[in-house]
Amino acid sequence: MAQEDVFKKLVAHCKEYGYVFPSSEIYDGLAAVYDYGQYGVELKNNIKKYWWDSMVLLHENVVGIDSAIFMHPTIWKASGHVDAFNDPLIDNKDSKKRYRADVLIEDHIAKYEEKIEKEVAKAKKRFGEKFDETLFRQTNPQILQHQQKKEELRSRMAKALNDNDLNELRQIIIDNKIVCPISGTCNWTEVRQFNLMFSTEIGSTADGASKIYLRPETAQGIFVNFLNVQKTGRMKIPFGIAQIGKAFRNEIVARQFIFRMREFEQMEMQFFVRPGSELEWFKKWKETRMSWHQTLGFGAENYRFHDHEKLAHYANAATDIEFRFPFGFKEVEGIHSRTDFDLKRHQEFSGKKIQYFDPELNESYTPYVIETSIGVDRMFLQVIAAAYQEEEIEKEDGTKDARVVLKLPAALAPVKLAVMPLVKKDGLPEKAEEIMQALRLDFRCQYDEKDSIGKRYRRQDAIGTPFCITVDHQTLEDNAVTIRYRDTMQQERVAIDQLYGILKQKTDMRELLKQIKL
Ligand code: ATP
Repeated sequence: MAQEDVFKKLVAHCKEYGYVFPSSEIYDGLAAVYDYGQYGVELKNNIKKYWWDSMVLLHENVVGIDSAIFMHPTIWKASGHVDAFNDPLIDNKDSKKRYRADVLIEDHIAKYEEKIEKEVAKAKKRFGEKFDETLFRQTNPQILQHQQKKEELRSRMAKALNDNDLNELRQIIIDNKIVCPISGTCNWTEVRQFNLMFSTEIGSTADGASKIYLRPETAQGIFVNFLNVQKTGRMKIPFGIAQIGKAFRNEIVARQFIFRMREFEQMEMQFFVRPGSELEWFKKWKETRMSWHQTLGFGAENYRFHDHEKLAHYANAATDIEFRFPFGFKEVEGIHSRTDFDLKRHQEFSGKKIQYFDPELNESYTPYVIETSIGVDRMFLQVIAAAYQEEEIEKEDGTKDARVVLKLPAALAPVKLAVMPLVKKDGLPEKAEEIMQALRLDFRCQYDEKDSIGKRYRRQDAIGTPFCITVDHQTLEDNAVTIRYRDTMQQERVAIDQLYGILKQKTDMRELLKQIKL
């Protein structure tokens, strides 16, 4: 199935099974804003817990905060967002659709990558066992040509973005004959800068209301609280401050479901270090964060680092962790070495001294910062895209059937356990209810007695419940139930008093946390 079709099905599945709804749907929706449904909110909370615990439980020197969305407007002057939080936008005159100029070029670059992968796949098929992929990639003339074009284009774009040269960005689009996917034409407007911050007013107009911004990132709330946390927590460098919270960006292009939203959530951690040691810490956090992703078991081959060619003026290293979404490799997380830029700017704009006295060095300095920044919603999309599978299965009578299953890591699954009486009589519902009562405070359980067992399994597969328990007549005699595993569909007979132990071990988030390489 084409990847676009998989993605469409995934979006439909999220809606049908209570994961993600378009916002304000009965009013025809609001572009790039989404609501999380009854299962979505649970998955989202579990993802946040996985991140939060990996920061504050696994690192003694990382603490959390929860700063307000509204902040003093000067903060956004100091951070550079008022003057430079822009995206270069371009309109197609025929379709009247608006695009980010850099994204159009990035997508064009991705086409060369696709061509390379196609060549490799073709050759693999042709040469079979004897195929030497590395050699082929290094020597095949067509691949080398695509590679060269890709690199030329990338560095030309990086230079244009670095120089803030909007005419050149447009020229790249024209020279490469990049067309609008809707109209298919190359009839483009000039490229303009567009500020992504939303603003509103605080105070009543009678008092002279003043302009205030909805934060476009959570990081600044951490920087402006640096001294508060360092002093009250008696934190010693190196240490980190973590935060999860909403952020708002008036994105130009908003067409990829929850990948790019106008209201979204971030999980950010700023790690304050001694000047000079930042690149070592950058390397360490790169590894730790990649391990956090890979521990979920979606396959190491589906992740890669994308080191930035265009560094923001204040950064001395930056990389993205990219995941292979159904629409290609895209950023889920950014890791940046931000030097002392932010703290210095806040010191300058606030007039307050923001420094750290290092008792070991016996001197004061402005700490350097490594930032790890990941979108909750993008992470949600990663998890759900990796988990979504359509499978052909064989029924007991030998006929074929299909199932849609969300193979979510058990620790993240919204519902851990479904309890099902085989029939709605003979005391089986009461027994099932009894089991639910015993487990409900530890595991999110769902009771289901409607339809055939097969149909009930399908429903639970579709929402990703890792374990189903069936109570049958024998249960009343031997106090044992059948446990059915979502991924293998295997069934096992277990004593009721063993259930807690089995579920605890298999759904415990600590089992994931223990595997993360620190
Ligand atoms: P992009 O290049 O995709 O716009 P970015 O580089 O601007 O992203 P950052 O400012 O580094 O993103 O933000 C950190 C993380 O926040 C991103 O890796 C992403 O997971 C998330 N994020 C950023 N913008 C959005 C958005 N509009 N919707 C959902 N998540 C977002």
